[in-house]
Amino acid sequence: MRIGILSVQGDIYENKTATKSALKEMDKHGEVVQAKTTEEIKKVDALIIPGGESTTIGRLCQENGSFDVIKQRIDSGMPVLGICAGLVLLSSTVSDRITGKTEQPLLGALDVSLERNSFGRQIRSFEADISLGAIGIPRFNGVFIRAPSISKAGDVEVLAKLGEKIVAVKKDKIMATAFHPELAGDLSIHKHFIESI
Ligand code: GLN
Repeated sequence: MRIGILSVQGDIYENKTATKSALKEMDKHGEVVQAKTTEEIKKVDALIIPGGESTTIGRLCQENGSFDVIKQRIDSGMPVLGICAGLVLLSSTVSDRITGKTEQPLLGALDVSLERNSFGRQIRSFEADISLGAIGIPRFNGVFIRAPSISKAGDVEVLAKLGEKIVAVKKDKIMATAFHPELAGDLSIHKHFIESI
């Protein structure tokens, strides 16, 4: 099993470390690799799209030609975990709570409308207890950094809410969170993702 971390910008190292630790604790064999180019994306069995800046990640992937390959691979069933900016990229429509509509490339893999900066600017970052009961994780430390939320969920399974806001969803092999599991000090979401591969 070769798990790729989309390595364009953002929380790459932290996801690599968390995924490696999760594999080790699960006693599973697997390789965790950084994937950036079209060729590297083609060789992974699963992909984590880390948090960072979704517009930057999307545009840089378009520039090096990997954006369409990522889209094709997800459409043909490659398991993917999208985190924060990764969730933004996986969405079908996106608007920004502060500036309104955004012009950014989207993978459109999840039937959701998304609100960027849903909890305010960077300074409003926070941690909160999250429950993902449907996947056997009743309590998780959600780290929200300039996080988005899902304002409208279509054909997806809602895994977690914070108040009225949807902050984790799943559809077949695609899972996405508005918070950062690689910073939680808890590997259960990475483990769940590995299990799904
Ligand atoms: N607000 C960022 C974006 O929309 C996401 C922030 C994050 O990944 N922590 O790209």
